[in-house]
Amino acid sequence: MKAEGVLKQVADEVSSCEKCVLYHSRKLAVPGEGPVNAEIMFIGEGPGFHENEQGRPFVGAAGKFLEELLARIGLKREQVFITNVVKCRPPSNRDPHPEEVETCTSTYLERQIQAINPKVIVTLGRYSMGLYLPNAKISSVHGQAMQVRGRLIVPMYHPAAALHQQSLKPEIESDFARLPQLISKATDVPEYVEQAAPEEKQEPKQLSLF
Ligand code: URA
Ligand code: SF4
Repeated sequence: MKAEGVLKQVADEVSSCEKCVLYHSRKLAVPGEGPVNAEIMFIGEGPGFHENEQGRPFVGAAGKFLEELLARIGLKREQVFITNVVKCRPPSNRDPHPEEVETCTSTYLERQIQAINPKVIVTLGRYSMGLYLPNAKISSVHGQAMQVRGRLIVPMYHPAAALHQQSLKPEIESDFARLPQLISKATDVPEYVEQAAPEEKQEPKQLSLF
């Protein structure tokens, strides 16, 4: 199937999906939107109140801020692909559960990424970052381009977090401002090497006391 057909097919399946419990509380599922040939793909967390009402990603306050950030680098939202880790709004905006993330991403997000084959994936917030950099701290890695499993990833703070926490605003603004440069240098970016968790660096544990 052609890439455009894959995106349509995914959107179709998402609209009536019942593969995880999030379907119970959603009004409209939000597959994501943007051109099939987009160079940049943004992955947020999940639909919020307004997205659930309209069936479109990032249409509330965070979306407005995302559009401002895009405008500063000369882009309109119609030029990028915007989607989320989970396509249905978690009740009361709770965090998505690991099994919901696993089901939704393996069924839909992976096909969207394959079809679009973007030059860069910008993860917005911790949930989408976790798909590529499960143990990374967003405060240390935000704004850095990394190759992970053959994809160029740039983790960024979630625009909603930057709206709630003023200190993050200049950080996300400068990360966005560097995006065009990061994309043009995409081939020079090193492979991300997961740092060992602190306990793994310690002496091997004694396996048995006997
Ligand atoms: N926050 C997200 O993570 N995604 C949206 O679509 C809207 C707000
Ligand atoms: Fe299906 Fe994803 Fe919605 Fe769960 S969140 S019901 S897997 S579309």
